[in-house]
Amino acid sequence: MIDKEKLRKYAKQVGADLCGFASMDRFEGAPKQMDPRYIFPDAKTCIVLAFRIPRGYFRGIEEGTYFCNYTAMGYAGINEVYGPIVLRELCCYIEDHGYEAVPVPNISFRNNAPEFSDLRVEQPPLVSLPVEEGKPAPDILIDMRAAAFAAGLGEFGWSKVFLTPEFGPMQRFVALLTDLEVEPDPIFEGKICDRCMSCARMCTGGAISKTESDHLTIAGHDVEFTKLDVHACHTAYRGGIAEYNPFDVSGNGLGPEWVTAQKGFGLELYMRHNHALEGARGCMRECYIHLEKKGVLTHKFKNEFRKNKPWKIDRSQRPDNVIDTGESSDKTLF
Ligand code: SF4
Repeated sequence: MIDKEKLRKYAKQVGADLCGFASMDRFEGAPKQMDPRYIFPDAKTCIVLAFRIPRGYFRGIEEGTYFCNYTAMGYAGINEVYGPIVLRELCCYIEDHGYEAVPVPNISFRNNAPEFSDLRVEQPPLVSLPVEEGKPAPDILIDMRAAAFAAGLGEFGWSKVFLTPEFGPMQRFVALLTDLEVEPDPIFEGKICDRCMSCARMCTGGAISKTESDHLTIAGHDVEFTKLDVHACHTAYRGGIAEYNPFDVSGNGLGPEWVTAQKGFGLELYMRHNHALEGARGCMRECYIHLEKKGVLTHKFKNEFRKNKPWKIDRSQRPDNVIDTGESSDKTLF
């Protein structure tokens, strides 16, 4: 038998920032299409790992001058590169002790759940079929926030972004299912989100309702969060609001030409599901700033994150009037 604390220590040693344990019965009531028990019916434990998004990954977007460190490294890099590598290490460790370990990275693309399919249509077309009667269609998509809650790592913020006492809203999650039985961690009973509504005020898509809410029951706990306008969120987060997207040079809004143009620069990783140009202005940055000011996060910095008034592009000016090339008088520099 592997000792639980040894396992947690190993997960951190190989690169996770946080590690929590949930028993599989905590997923009772999950929609079939999102129930991890269909991925590994013999699983006894769901291990959830959190990877912090280093605060500096947001700096370029906060200043409005460098966008790819958050979109490429803070989004794609963690979900598609770093997370799977750490998961593999932990899978091998558990399997070396004689238990099966199924990695569930945060990169599932094919799913029939309406909220995760094409968000622009009411009835999205099916993307897959069940392989036999009684099973959900592939791929099952675990709600990583619900898994993190079930593993005791923190709570849902009003914004629906998951908050931990360590990093507030700034982390991403992966899961691992194993037939190793581990005592589950207690459900987090603290209170991080104080309903300040900074997330709703600063969300550029206006996707976060201040008054209407949704609920989930996870492990017998009622979890409440905003009634998120998923379409508005999806549009804003990928640069659909011209005032917050400096790559939309024409200001005509996000369109196919814009996407094609970006791909033309060879920025596939930058673009994929990680074209998060809005930089989570309300739900992550503003929330973080609020929690930092309140002093409730255990991971501390010497200096505050926000230095200046948040930027907004003035679209009343023509692009050729607002672009400062900053041409250096010292031509030898470049
Ligand atoms: S910004 Fe305020 S209301 Fe929104 S999730 Fe963070 S703490 Fe909660």
